[in-house]
Amino acid sequence: MSQPRSENDRYCPNEKCTLYRKRKYNEIVRNGHNYAGHQVFRCMCCGKQFVETLGTPFYGKRLPEKEIIGICKLLVEKNGVRSIERITGHHRDTISNLLKDMAEHAEMMNEFLL
Ligand SMILES: [Zn+2]
Repeated sequence: MSQPRSENDRYCPNEKCTLYRKRKYNEIVRNGHNYAGHQVFRCMCCGKQFVETLGTPFYGKRLPEKEIIGICKLLVEKNGVRSIERITGHHRDTISNLLKDMAEHAEMMNEFLL
């Protein structure tokens, strides 16, 4: 016997789906977690899976959110990339890529809000 589908406030991100950006609670179901521990959802209409971090700066990142937020706080405090590398123990390329992705996301948000 299957469990009743839980309600959530997600919508289908698939442009080809009939439920694209429509909130129909029973059609988006939870479907486990990914490698980073984020909730995975599945659209019962088109079958496409998507992660809860879709459309956020955390999407596709292997670092936990706490680590990413900590690195961002250090960047805001004007620490250098090599300085953050010494403090956090993460490679400077990881920090540089994170900085680049955060800048792109901030630029997209700025364009959206304007
Ligand atoms: Zn769908």
